[in-house]
This record gives sequence, structure tokens and C-alpha cells, in this order.
Amino acid sequence: MKFDKPTQNFWGGYWREIKNGRSFEVFNPASGEVCARVAEASRDDVQSAIDAAAVAGESWAGLAHTKRAGFLLKAADIMEERRQDFVDALVQEGGSWVGKAMFETAYSIEALRAAAAMVFHMNGEILPSEYGKLSMAVREPLGVVSVISPWNFPLLLTVRGFAVAMAIGNTIVLKPSEESPLSGGLLLAEVLEAAGLPAGVFNVVTCSRDGISGLGDELVVNPAVRGISFTGSTEVGRHIATLAGSLLKKACVELGGKDALIILDDADLGKAVNAATFGTYMHQGQICMSVERIIVHEAVADEFTRRLVANVKTLGVGDPASMDHVIGPLINEKQLENVHGQVTEAIEKGATLLTGGKFRDLFYEPTVLSGVTRDMKIFREETFGPVAALITVDDAEEAIAVANDSDYGLSAGIFTADEQHGMEVARRLETGMAHINDSSVNDEAHAPFGGVKNSGQGRQNGKASVEAFSELRWITLERGGRQYPPPFNEKI
Ligand code: NAD
Repeated sequence: MKFDKPTQNFWGGYWREIKNGRSFEVFNPASGEVCARVAEASRDDVQSAIDAAAVAGESWAGLAHTKRAGFLLKAADIMEERRQDFVDALVQEGGSWVGKAMFETAYSIEALRAAAAMVFHMNGEILPSEYGKLSMAVREPLGVVSVISPWNFPLLLTVRGFAVAMAIGNTIVLKPSEESPLSGGLLLAEVLEAAGLPAGVFNVVTCSRDGISGLGDELVVNPAVRGISFTGSTEVGRHIATLAGSLLKKACVELGGKDALIILDDADLGKAVNAATFGTYMHQGQICMSVERIIVHEAVADEFTRRLVANVKTLGVGDPASMDHVIGPLINEKQLENVHGQVTEAIEKGATLLTGGKFRDLFYEPTVLSGVTRDMKIFREETFGPVAALITVDDAEEAIAVANDSDYGLSAGIFTADEQHGMEVARRLETGMAHINDSSVNDEAHAPFGGVKNSGQGRQNGKASVEAFSELRWITLERGGRQYPPPFNEKI
């Protein structure tokens, strides 16, 4: 992985030495080796980056919308040329299976192009006016938007966090995850620099987990920051949203999940097994909308379980740089402890281990547990690991009740041959998203993405991002029809 600026961050159009000259190590979770060194920014550096974004704001927002779109399209072309650098970074610092890294890179390029098109959707409205005025609702960018992104889909979720916001005239200060600073930010800065983006429009600061307490709040409380795009855990997202709310700033927070996949008695079991396997094990289960609970009708539970276990046993585990190893490492020790702790507790409380349950270094075997009950941590807390947790129910009513018994509400999947019934079930699930005859893992660059309950607040992608990162203003032009009460008028 090529990166030769271990003490530099990017703001105001230049790579700058950070103030204290310090750096931190980024580890490859598959090998445990250091794969990069990047800058450990301080609060002063973050302030400088925000200042640069604020200075750039007016001219960027004032630029013709087609010109702004042009920079995003150019960046997409450059990313395409540098596709392999992104794939390498995703595999090395993120532990991504190479197939996932290729998909994520290609999809992020597509998302940049989709974001460019959103410049044509900063639409307002002409309103009827009581007085015959020209009355308009117009959209304007917020100003500086802070983007804080996670490590699990670092490239895509960073692009989702900033691209539409930037296209419609905001300027950006990005802080990628400490686990994935290259694929989540620094490589994007190189791309946008090469695209000739005006100075200060896109800025990146990096810091370690230890360093975040000193500068994280600055990304929210700095008076120049008017919007926040956060993707990450519920715990940190709540802190960010609370801080932003106290200052009356707009914050879109995309958080954790505990998604259910419901398999009803008339489901196509072949499709359901494939969706369950993909949804549970893609990227070792480290996706916000991973299938974390499989709720299966008792009439098909035995057959579904047998076929799922057989399929799971075919998944290759090992170095994710190989196409054969769809299961790579978990991101770090903390995640490993969380996953194994939940599996162990579930078994102690009566769940049956059907396969997996063991690990070597950070590689956790794809695991299936049946007989999961509501008193287990694995039922309630985000696992973020390659574990299928099976719960058997008597009917669709119970399936809905079990699925809704969660503090989270991100996405869901429902398998049934009866499309009408599938729609009814989908409407009753307390989630931001629901997919009939598909996995809960779904995303398209123009579709409103987001959760309810502890899974977040606000929506991203396409028009939803335009709404999230713009202000709707009312502007009128009076043309002689407005009369004030006579006592207020000039007496001539
Ligand atoms: P995290 O909350 O630990 O970190 C997310 C980002 O916040 C990182 O950049 C981190 O450095 C930063 N951060 C941490 N503390 C901060 C603070 N005090 N102030 C400012 N920034 C701070 O999450 P993670 O471990 O990187 O990601 C995994 C979590 O993200 C999971 O819970 C997953 O479900 C969630 N996630 C949600 C979505 C979604 O769209 N809903 C997508 C991906 C991941």
C-alpha cells in the first residue's frame, strides 16, 4: 500500500505538516503487521481545516452547478484509474475480502457520479401567494459539513457522507476512521486534489482512537460547522447528535443495527438460504445492516437450518486477498472479544452451536446458533461478526413481534411467496428500510438510506442527502398586492 505522507493532512488545497509532527500506526488485521503510518492531528489542525473549508465556502457555492458536478465526475474518472490502490487499501487496512473491496470501489465510483447528478436536484418550489407575490421556497447549502466515517465500508460510507453534500455547494472536513484512514479519506484527498478541486472544498484530518477525545467535538462545535454527517456506532452517534442538537445544528447520524431476516412458511428456501448466507457473512458480518437475527417459521425451520449450515460450511476462511477466502479477519481484538463473548453467553444460556464458534488470531469461523432467545445478548446487542442467530416462531404475527423487539431499527428482509402478505409484514416492521424476498443488506445510490430507533436519525443518498445538507428558505418578491392595515401607512 503506497502512502508517503505520515505526518501530513490535507486542507486548503495542500498537504500540510500537522502541528505536532506525530503519526500513528495502521494495522493489517489479517497479518497483524503495520501497513501504514498516518498523521495524528490535533485540535489546532482541525480548526485550520475548518477555517479552510469556511473560506472556500462562498466561491464554491457560487460556482455554476455544472462546474461543481464536473469536479465529481473528474474525481470518479481518476478513481477508476487508481482502482487497484483503493482495492489494496481496503484489503490491507480493512480486512476486506478482495471481492468486497472490488465491489466497494466500483460502487463508490458510481456513487460519485450519482452525486454529481444531484446538482440538478437542488430544486425549490414556486408557492401560491395570497398577495400575488412571487413566492419561492429555495434550497441553499448549509456551509461547512463535517463528515465522520466508519471502517467497515470506509470508502463507500465516506463517499456517501460527503459527495452529495459537496456537489450541492457545501465544503467538507472529513475525519475517517482510525482503522481505515487511507481508503476512508487520505486516498480520496489525493484523487480530489488531482481532479483540480478548488482549495478548501475538501479537507481531511486523521487521528488515532486515543487522539479523538481531543478533537472530535471540534468537528461539531466549531461555529463554522453547520452540518454533520456521521456514520458509526450508536454510542458515538448519540454523543454527536446530542452535541449538535444542543447547538441547533443539523446532524444526520447513521448508526448500528440488529436486523432481522424473516423466513415465512411459504418462502422459497433456496433463495432464503442464499440471502441469509450473504446477509450474515458478507464482510464477516461487519455491516450495519447485516442479518443479525434469522426468524424462521417452525414449519420450515428444520429444512432451512440444515441447508443453511451446509452452505455456511462451504465459506472459505483466510487471507482476504485471495478470492477463495470470502471470510477474512475481524477488524480488531475488541470486536473479536465482543463476538466470542456473545456466542459463549448464548451457548451458556441454552443456544445450540451448529457450526463454527472458534477462532484463530482475528479469523472467526462462520458460526450458526439455533435456539436463540430474547434474554441473550446475541438477540439484543449488535454482534458485528459472522454469526447466524436462529429463532423459531409459530407464525407471522410472532415473527413481527420478535423482529420489533429491538432497540434498533435499520433494515429487514422478509421471505414469502405471497407478495401482498410480504408488503403487509414490511409495513409493520419498525425499521427505516425493509426488503421483501431479499436480504436486509441493500443500498442504491439514490434510495433513502437510514434507520429508526437507535439506528439513527436522518436519511442519506440522492434526494435525501440534498434535504439533509441544505436549508430550505422562503423568498418572496412583492409586486404591489400586499396591503398593510391603514394606520401603518404614510399619511399624505
Ligand atoms: P465508531 O462509532 O466507533 O466510529 C465511527 C467514527 O467516529 C470513526 O471515524 C471514529 O474515529 C469516530 N469517533 C469515535 N469517537 C468519536 C468522538 N468522540 N467524536 C467524534 N468522532 C468520534 O464506529 P465504527 O466502529 O467505526 O463502525 C462500526 C459501527 O458503525 C457499527 O455500529 C455499525 O453498525 C455502524 N455503521 C452504521 C452504518 C449505517 O449506515 N447505519 C454504516 C456502517 C457502520
